[in-house]
Amino acid sequence: MTSKDFIETEDKYGAHNYKPLDVVITRGKGVWLEDVDGNKYMDFLAAYSAVNQGHCHPRLVEVMKEQAEKLTLTSRAFRNDQWPLLAKELCELTGYDMVLPMNSGAEAVETALKAVRKWGYQVKGVEKDKAEIIACDGNFHGRTITIVTFSPEEQYKDGFGPLTPGFKLIPYGDADALEKAITPNTVAFLVEPIQGEGGVVVPPEGYLRKAKEICEKNNVLFVADEIQSGLGRTGKLFACDHEGVKPDVITIGKALSGGFYPVSAMLANKEVMSVFAPGDHGSTYGGNPLGSAIAREALKIIVEEKLPERAAELGEYVMSRLNKIKSPHVDFYRGKGLWIGIVLKDEAGGARRFCEALMKKGVLAKETHWNIIRLAPPLVISKEEIDWALERIEEVLTME
Ligand SMILES: *Cc1c(COP(=O)(O)O)cnc(C)c1O
Repeated sequence: MTSKDFIETEDKYGAHNYKPLDVVITRGKGVWLEDVDGNKYMDFLAAYSAVNQGHCHPRLVEVMKEQAEKLTLTSRAFRNDQWPLLAKELCELTGYDMVLPMNSGAEAVETALKAVRKWGYQVKGVEKDKAEIIACDGNFHGRTITIVTFSPEEQYKDGFGPLTPGFKLIPYGDADALEKAITPNTVAFLVEPIQGEGGVVVPPEGYLRKAKEICEKNNVLFVADEIQSGLGRTGKLFACDHEGVKPDVITIGKALSGGFYPVSAMLANKEVMSVFAPGDHGSTYGGNPLGSAIAREALKIIVEEKLPERAAELGEYVMSRLNKIKSPHVDFYRGKGLWIGIVLKDEAGGARRFCEALMKKGVLAKETHWNIIRLAPPLVISKEEIDWALERIEEVLTME
């Protein structure tokens, strides 16, 4: 079958809930992808930062094979010998007391929403069904009905009502707005320390610290969604680390399993996590031995290959090179670590055509919103590989 056949088959039988670039990938290794026609591409999306460790990392391939031959799923009705070790290693790495395992990122966020609501009723003493959660304009936290309730994107909720009450949106990056929005019923503030889908939006310096202080003062939980920003992407293990902020609750996913198997989690200290009693919440696959074994290794790779340090160093290099490009189309660049948004001028005619031009030159990037090109290669990328890509990025940014 050719690319065209695969695309036609997908479009005939698969739901049309995405509009992918028309490239049919069949193989991946490190930062490189290969399509069914044998063309090679450098991956500058890394599956929305799920593949920070690079495609088909040999250590993950090995662990996955080994564990797949041993035991894959017991459900949490029984215990297994991988989940306890993932839980322990994750807590030791991050400094939290406890962790609750799920599969997709959206499920981790849902878990956090449940936890903070129950904390509000049990610990803070909010009246039944009155809990409020504050989130930010420009957010992306996933696609469940409750999560899209507080999405700023009309399309994400249009046609999916009735939606879930109890959420409030405030401007991102504005700590005063947070202070004003808090009421006695506010149980949590949910925030991405850097907004990924929003277009790699970095809030003003000091925002997270200030927001955390406001939360503390008002007995409100600070919940950081680090599903995309966490695990090395921004140059630290967590993006909140840049401001020395330790959230009350953190959600992680994506790179937690290096692209092999959906694993997500919510991390918190005992006071919050203890609101969950047996039967309160769960997932058939959450904490399964296959996913746990993979996540354990994925975390070891992040630490041992110093992926956060690489992201910091290489990110700075990319940014300095980009700033030298004289492009008629670029408004400005922003980002942190190996996570960069190229914000185009309105006259540039949208980011899609630039992503398509990049694809023709062998670099796969994806636009976010209509005018932002996001650069987020696997963190195992080498300087030579970055130079190769930058040459092509420059060609595209300086085209007509
Ligand atoms: C991707 C993402 C999610 C949702 O993760 P899924 O695995 O797609 O459900 C949630 N929050 C943030 C910040 C994300 O980037």
